[in-house]
Amino acid sequence: MPELLLEVDGLKKYFPITSGLFGKKTGEVKAVDAVSFYVKKGETLGIVGESGCGKSTTGRLLMRLIEASDGRIIFEDKEITKMSKHELRKIRRDIQMVFQDPYASLNPRHSVQQILEEPLIVHGIGTKEERQKRVKEMLEVVGLSSYHAKRYPHQFSGGQRQRIGIARALMTKPKLIIADEPVSALDVSIQAQVLNLMKDIQEEFKLTYIFIAHDLGVVRHISDRVGVMYLGRLIELADSEELYENSMHPYTKALLSAVPVPDPDLKKQPILIEGELPSPANPPSGCAFHTRCSQVMDICKSSRPAEHNFNGHYVACHLYNK
Ligand code: SF4
Repeated sequence: MPELLLEVDGLKKYFPITSGLFGKKTGEVKAVDAVSFYVKKGETLGIVGESGCGKSTTGRLLMRLIEASDGRIIFEDKEITKMSKHELRKIRRDIQMVFQDPYASLNPRHSVQQILEEPLIVHGIGTKEERQKRVKEMLEVVGLSSYHAKRYPHQFSGGQRQRIGIARALMTKPKLIIADEPVSALDVSIQAQVLNLMKDIQEEFKLTYIFIAHDLGVVRHISDRVGVMYLGRLIELADSEELYENSMHPYTKALLSAVPVPDPDLKKQPILIEGELPSPANPPSGCAFHTRCSQVMDICKSSRPAEHNFNGHYVACHLYNK
């Protein structure tokens, strides 16, 4: 097996629900509930699911932008979950994020030069001249020009702003980039350009990606393997082609049936998912999908399905109990 860059084991994030004047805890939202996966060096792992499934929270946990309630995150044999602030600062050079809304994530009062230089200043990297040189280089890598360094975020289109967000993520020469819905806010015509750019950059800089999105079509374009989340749980994970051709979990099958196919002769019958997405503050017992699953059995209502491994195709569903 290729070398692992990241291992996530039993990761949980429970947010307390409080009420009253004294903020008494009355419950908790299980945003991420015992999620485990690994990421190999140089691959792209896609993570998909509806909004509120915990995929973005997982991304933030990996960088320790928020603290985990439980579980372990191991990056290159070092346990991120146990690192001191000092160690964490160092590791953040190696792990960078690209956000969904490039406009909101770029300081409107800072020039592109300042925005791109900032991560280097934070990490004490390079002299002023070296930083300026790297800004120019990275602008060119993402398809912009060095003269853009003097401009401000509002002077760019959405696609160009996301290119700046990607350039900023590259400044510290990271090993892993966590891209949280990086093309969701862009026009469809621009999405493909940004995805192609990300692919080219990955090859050029030998990067590893975690690509978070709600759109299975977008994730397929870029991912080597894809994991599907539902209500804070990872319910299926497999090689990209395998997942799209031979999905096993009823939820994944339903999601995939709704993805448009380019061939108009190939008529797909969408599988309807009944009912509303339950609240993560009060998830259904047993299999969290049981309230909406067309193949629900008695056991599904009381027992949380274990994860089964079929040659690297992982699925958590009682249909596959041996
Ligand atoms: Fe459906 Fe049961 Fe499988 Fe859950 S465990 S997806 S309810 S069949």
